[in-house]
Amino acid sequence: MYTMRPAEFAYHRPTSLDEAISLLGEDARPIAGGHSLLPLMKLRLATPAALVDIGHVPGLDGISQENGGVVIGALATHAQVAGSKVMIGIAPVIPETAGQIGDVQVRNRGTIGGSVAHADPNADYPTVLKALGATITATGKGGERTIAADDFFRGIFTTALEPDELVTSINVPATPAGTGAAYVKHRHPASFYAVVGIAAVVSVESGKCTAARITIGGVTSPPVHATAAAESLVGSSGDETAIAAAAAKVPEVLGDAIGDSYASGEYRTHLAEVLTKRALEKAFERAT
Ligand code: FAD
Repeated sequence: MYTMRPAEFAYHRPTSLDEAISLLGEDARPIAGGHSLLPLMKLRLATPAALVDIGHVPGLDGISQENGGVVIGALATHAQVAGSKVMIGIAPVIPETAGQIGDVQVRNRGTIGGSVAHADPNADYPTVLKALGATITATGKGGERTIAADDFFRGIFTTALEPDELVTSINVPATPAGTGAAYVKHRHPASFYAVVGIAAVVSVESGKCTAARITIGGVTSPPVHATAAAESLVGSSGDETAIAAAAAKVPEVLGDAIGDSYASGEYRTHLAEVLTKRALEKAFERAT
């Protein structure tokens, strides 16, 4: 049955982290911006018995500098991340990514915690967080734990989170001097989700690339590192030939490309190669 009304659910509005966690479980889900969960509930693709509204839990918002990196509270909206002056100086590719999410309404309501917990295969943050080696802090009945982005994103709408755990923050290391990072996406014309999104991070010393990472989102789930492609850049100056050779290796890691009515797997694979070149060009420009 197609309906635009969610099934009945109980609504809780906790005012502390402990209270929120005590209310969570298999059938009681957190809600933050509601921009991913509510559409699913209206289509009855999600029918939680209870919603735990975490919007009034103190301590989950804010963006601060800590241990040389940046800690982003789970409730920080995409608009807050996009406009964060703290982040511009420490990991500028994160606000650059946030500014490309959806439209202004989505950016004003959607949260970074909701985005990573939802793990949409076409979301933007997972690709960039993996490329930067970020970590996700989760808090549940068993306490707090920190999970590397590489281990957190497990597949389509699937993460390492337990049902009683909340994402409480996202921790991003600083992008050091001599390192450039860029995120480039082909956005879906209706939703602006990433049909394909590429994050590239390169380090340059005395004109030569010393390390590189290329992460591809939207083609597989979770996003995947194109390790051989990135390694082929080491020792090069990041010139056009080296970038084209690296991009040509990207399809090697995209065996099981996602296809849908908008973009076939083959088209997504082609886009990944083209966008990798653009992301690398920008990253090298920023590293030098
Ligand atoms: P919610 O909808 O409240 O929750 C989503 C899921 O995460 C639910 O399962 C919920 O239980 C869980 N959850 C929420 N917060 C937490 C937490 N702190 N800890 C644990 N679990 C939690 N995204 C992109 O990346 N790029 C785009 O271009 C883009 N375009 C969009 C366009 C439209 C029209 C819409 C409606 C959405 C779009 N999105 C896009 C998704 C948007 O960014 C969502 O806001 C985001 O994915 C979910 O954040 P939220 O705060 O709304 O989460």
